[in-house]
Amino acid sequence: MKSLSGSLFKVIAAKHNSRLGLTLATLALLFQAPAAVAEWLGDARPLMGTEVSVYLWSDDPELGKQALEDVFAEAARIDRLMSTYKDESEISKINRLAAKEPVVCGDELFHLVRRSLDISVLTLGAFDITYDSVGQHYDFRSRQRPDTDTVISERENIDYRFVELDQATRSISFLKEGVRINLGGIAKGYVVERGIDILRRHGLEHAIVTAGGDSRLLGDRRGRPWMVGIRDPRVDDKVAISVPLADEAVSTSGDYERYFDEDGVRYHHIIKPATGTPAGGVHSATVIGPDAVITDALSTSVFVMGVEQGLTLIATLPDYESIVIDAEGRVYYSDGLANPAGEGAE
Ligand code: ADP
Ligand code: MG
Repeated sequence: MKSLSGSLFKVIAAKHNSRLGLTLATLALLFQAPAAVAEWLGDARPLMGTEVSVYLWSDDPELGKQALEDVFAEAARIDRLMSTYKDESEISKINRLAAKEPVVCGDELFHLVRRSLDISVLTLGAFDITYDSVGQHYDFRSRQRPDTDTVISERENIDYRFVELDQATRSISFLKEGVRINLGGIAKGYVVERGIDILRRHGLEHAIVTAGGDSRLLGDRRGRPWMVGIRDPRVDDKVAISVPLADEAVSTSGDYERYFDEDGVRYHHIIKPATGTPAGGVHSATVIGPDAVITDALSTSVFVMGVEQGLTLIATLPDYESIVIDAEGRVYYSDGLANPAGEGAE
């Protein structure tokens, strides 16, 4: 389990200055209930095999607390639908049956799988939810990995084109026995998007929702941008680069999230579909843009594609930018980002 301090995006709550915005509405509230004061509220809970955190400003603390609860409830709901670790989840049912018969599924899962397949096309197969035929043989906690024969046979089952969607019946089928899907590279972005939607519907205007390496910022930090830290891939708790952001999504994929080292080789959780082995060459890939579902999938993709191919892809997407730290600690920025002089990982 990652701790909050170990997560990529460190929102340093203590540094937020919770000055009172003395609007008429706030004043009215203060007169009615002296205890109710506008404030920053936040909480972090273990969910989806990682940590989900919410941090928000609310003029009405009761409403703020309810909004927090609603976001955590939504994350738990999505996890129940999309976790491959839960036998009763919709995705586990698909993995059990879709090679035998088309499996009808709910709108949400169907659409997220469709978006995943679209991103596979965009990234020339670097992002591929069928990576899981190999991925299922890893257990990072117990330092388990597939042997070479398993990798060679299972990688035959990695190809997003084996996943067939039927819009009319909203069903999913696999064209080959042994194919499995896993939304680990995109579902956290979805949780973050849904979380921000919930906060917006509560009328909130300043917040951050984070799930593992994926964050979405709602508004700014009341007049100042949020400072989002990209951590040094090899030094826990050290921020390598800080980026001022407002109203954006930002995702980082790193080889330090789930991994173990063996004989000088790092075995980690981002699989290169072409080889069936963990992608090398990059230590972390960050993508910034308007939609957390896309930044989540693209950060995984840029990690797999590497510096050159990854940044070439980002250059074709006007709304998205990227920061990549390679295996030598060098930092690369996409064209739309100013390179802050002197900053970088050593
Ligand atoms: P995090 O889970 O820390 O947010 P990422 O967004 O990079 O990190 O997602 C990594 C996860 O994506 C892995 O744990 C795995 O579930 C899944 N994954 C691994 N390789 C691929 C790939 N090539 N394409 C799509 N998903 C992948
Ligand atoms: Mg991702």
